[in-house]
Amino acid sequence: MHRLVCVHCAAEYPADQVIYTCSRCGHLLAVEYPLDEVSIDRSLWHRRPLSVWRYRELLPVSGQPVTLQEGGTPLYRLERIGADLGLPHLYAKHEGMNPSGSFKDRGMTVGVSMALELGMTSVACASTGNTSASLAQYAARAGIPAVVLLPAGKVALGKVAQALMHGARVISIRGNFDRALEMVHELCLSKGLYLLNSVNPFRLEGQKTIGFEAVDQLEGVPDRFVLPVGNAGNISAVHKGLNELLALGFIDRLPMMTGVQAEGSAPVARAIAEGLPEVVPELRPETVATAIRIGAPVNAEKALTAIRQTGGTATTVTDAEILAMQRDLARKEGIGVEPASAASVAGIRRLSEEGAIDRDERIVCVVTGHLLKDPETVIGQCEPPIEIDAAISSLLSALSS
Ligand SMILES: *Cc1c(COP(=O)(O)O)cnc(C)c1O
Ligand SMILES: [Zn+2]
Repeated sequence: MHRLVCVHCAAEYPADQVIYTCSRCGHLLAVEYPLDEVSIDRSLWHRRPLSVWRYRELLPVSGQPVTLQEGGTPLYRLERIGADLGLPHLYAKHEGMNPSGSFKDRGMTVGVSMALELGMTSVACASTGNTSASLAQYAARAGIPAVVLLPAGKVALGKVAQALMHGARVISIRGNFDRALEMVHELCLSKGLYLLNSVNPFRLEGQKTIGFEAVDQLEGVPDRFVLPVGNAGNISAVHKGLNELLALGFIDRLPMMTGVQAEGSAPVARAIAEGLPEVVPELRPETVATAIRIGAPVNAEKALTAIRQTGGTATTVTDAEILAMQRDLARKEGIGVEPASAASVAGIRRLSEEGAIDRDERIVCVVTGHLLKDPETVIGQCEPPIEIDAAISSLLSALSS
C-alpha cells in the first residue's frame, strides 16, 4: 500500500488522509509505493493501450477511475526544426491531444478519482486556465461540483470557455495566480472542498505517466526531457516517475531534466543559474505564455532537486522566441500548440545556440497544450484572411498578389 511522505522531513501519512502539505514542517508531500513489493509484468503494460491507466500499478487509485481516455498522446519527431538546429533526435510529445487539450487531464483523472475514493463531494482549484478547464471536465464526468479561481483578465479565451461550458463555478480574482492559489487553498481547508492544484500529490502521480509513455514510445530512455515550467509540478512529476522506473530496473539512467521559463517569469531558472538553495518569488510575473505566468512556483523544491540530481539545467526564453517557435511548430511541423508549450522547444533552440546541447542527444520536449486554447494570441500573429467578391477572377487575382 502506498503512503504520503514529506519530501523535506520524511514524516509519513496514511494515503487516505486528506492532507496537502506536511503538518510537521509545511513542505510538500509525495506518494511512495513499496517498490520492492509491487510486481509488475512489463509485457502486461505493453498489452494495454498507451494511456495513463496502462501504468495503474504505479498509481494510487484502487477502484474504477473517472476517465475520459487521457494520455496516449503522440510523440512526433521534429525533422525540420531538428535539422535547423542540427539536432537529429529531437521529439515533441503533444500533450495538447488530451481530452481537454492539455496534460492537466493526466493529473485530473487521478486526482478526481482520488477525491471520490476519499469521500470528497466537491473539488476546487486556482488556475492560469488549463487546470480549470480540465477540472471542470473531470468534475462533470464524476458528477460533482467544481469551483475554479482565475486571475482576472489573464486567462486565454478557450480555457475560460471550457471551464464555463463544463459547468464549473468560475470566479475571477482581481489579483494574480499566486494570490488565487493562496485563496483557494484557504477555502478548501476551511470549507472541505478537495484541492486539485499541483500541490496535491495524487495529481502529480497522473502526470508522471508522460515520462512512462515517452520511454515506451522510444523503447528506451531519452537523454534529455524538456518541459515548460510554471508551478513546476510537471517537471517534478516526470522526474519522480522516471526515478520509479529506475528503482524497478526498467531503465538504467535518468534523462537530464531541463526546465524552460519565460524571461518575465523565471524564478526557477534564476535559482538554477545562481545556484540558490531555493527560489526567490517573482512578484510581478509577466509573459504572453499565460500558462506559465507564475511567480511563486509551489513545486519549486521538487523541481530544483529534479534538475540538479539529473545534471539537467533551466533556461529562459523571451516572449518573441516563444511566439516564433509556436509559428515554426505550426508551419514547419504541422503541430499546433499554445504559447507556453512552444517554450520547451524554444528553450532547446536557445540552449543549442549556446552550445549546451550535444548533437547526438535524444531529446523529448513536452508541448503541453493545444493551439486552440489561446486563439487570440494566434490571430494576433497572423495576417487576416483576404476577403474577395465571389468570382473566380477575384480569386485568381487574390492568389497571384
Ligand atoms: C500547466 C501548464 C504548464 C506548466 O506546468 P507546471 O506543472 O505548472 O510547471 C505549461 N504549459 C501548459 C500549457 C500548462 O497548462
Ligand atoms: Zn515534513
